[in-house]
Amino acid sequence: MSSSSSNSYSSAFATCKCGIAAPIRVSKTLENPNHKFMTCEIKRCNYFVWVDSLVPKVHVEVEKKIDYLMNRIEELENKNQNLELKNVKLEKVKLCLEKKMLDIEKNKRGKLYIVAVFVVLLIVLFVKNQEL
Ligand SMILES: [Zn+2]
Repeated sequence: MSSSSSNSYSSAFATCKCGIAAPIRVSKTLENPNHKFMTCEIKRCNYFVWVDSLVPKVHVEVEKKIDYLMNRIEELENKNQNLELKNVKLEKVKLCLEKKMLDIEKNKRGKLYIVAVFVVLLIVLFVKNQEL
């Protein structure tokens, strides 16, 4: 009856003694933090089993890896979000600096214009003096 034992394995994994699908929950106790278990959905029977006692060891390792990678993804997403915020700030600083550069450029041109007008005035005065 090796096939029936694999059947009872899969049915034990899926349902409680009431025959209802048992949800996987995560333990928050100090003794078993983040330890996955299954109990009766409606709390009618006393069905209780640790998930990793049912799942082959390889699966537990894979699940640990998945958990680790999910955490890494979350970390990287947070980092990315921070970098995007920094980027927005830097973009604002860049715009501000560009505006200041334009102002300086305008100021320079204004000064050059005044100098040019002054030089032309001097030349006009010089020429007029020569004519007298
Ligand atoms: Zn039950």
